[in-house]
Amino acid sequence: MTGARRRGDGTRAVHAGLPAGEQGEPFLPGPTFAAPFHAAGDPHEVPFSYGRHHNPTWTRYEAALGEIEGGQATAFASGMAAVTAILLPALRPGDVLVAPSDCYMSVRTIAEGYLSDRGVEIRLVPTATDAVLDAIEGARLVWLESPSNPGLDVVDLPLIVERSHAAGALVAVDNTLATPFGQRPLEIGADFSMSSDSKHISGHSDLVLGHVATGDPALTEQIVHWRTHTGSIPGPFEAWLAHRSLATLDVRLERECANALAIAEFLAARSDVSGVRYPGLPGDPAYALADRQMDRFGTVLGFEIEGAERAEAFLDACELVAGATSFGGLHTSAERRGRWGRDAVAPGFIRLSAGCEDADDLIADMAAALDRL
Ligand code: PLP
Repeated sequence: MTGARRRGDGTRAVHAGLPAGEQGEPFLPGPTFAAPFHAAGDPHEVPFSYGRHHNPTWTRYEAALGEIEGGQATAFASGMAAVTAILLPALRPGDVLVAPSDCYMSVRTIAEGYLSDRGVEIRLVPTATDAVLDAIEGARLVWLESPSNPGLDVVDLPLIVERSHAAGALVAVDNTLATPFGQRPLEIGADFSMSSDSKHISGHSDLVLGHVATGDPALTEQIVHWRTHTGSIPGPFEAWLAHRSLATLDVRLERECANALAIAEFLAARSDVSGVRYPGLPGDPAYALADRQMDRFGTVLGFEIEGAERAEAFLDACELVAGATSFGGLHTSAERRGRWGRDAVAPGFIRLSAGCEDADDLIADMAAALDRL
């Protein structure tokens, strides 16, 4: 920070969590691999005692995430480990969880398959501001995913946070699609911002990781306590790789978001493609809200090709679009989302994650694939 001016995303990404420079030391120290650390005597007097409790490589990665989230971050073995660390300690029998009916499928599996068996009432509502507001009364925790995955709908986050808090509920935002450079839930008062760092944060499709950020030390303590005792800890090498990759988050997003818009515009102009969804596409149902509350519109878009077979044939015909689940990587990838059988999408609905290739090449590749159908 220079005076009151906040440094730009690029600067913050490059410098986040790095120790002060020391002669002869690397910019980002390498990963520390340890189960026990040398720690005789009172364990509270040594900074590191056992590798399930803490690790200096996580500490640096968490400092970096905390800087870009505007809070305190705790890293986990995966995005789902981070999700579980919010849901399980926060909810008791008799509590009410409001969650999106169209959110990431494993979040629904935890809610419906485990929490409801243990006496938590689950209210699943679509990602739409009014639907969420109508369900808040009596809730303990409101779970939001905006933009939602894979539907790409957006809710009014500040309004829902305000109403949830007035009703005595905590708010957690799955910020995986948006990233902290797209929107910062903690700045608008959400209690938890979580992310699957397997996606944009690490960005190279080579690791699985997650984190939770909060602005409240008591909630951070609850999250860390859960991680320590369930052991859902990140590996030091993954945490180090993710920290290294985080440095390029701003430049990757710059290219990927521009590519996503260019692809969305190209697809919207094709008569053999329908239902193009991208929050940054003027005319998209989510555009006005997204434009108001997001700094960037994200890298993920959705569209339909008539019929599952034609959609699969399109994906097969693309040379530059990897057929793969997940999103947020350097390589453009896409999948027919209905193949999992878990999302309410049309059979030919495709979710595409724009990578860092040249937009002209991606568009030429997709145009050729469409023309071949
Ligand atoms: N949240 C969202 C929006 C996701 O897309 C995913 C994974 O695809 C997760 C959470 C879970 O993350 P992970 O796969 O890192 O456990």
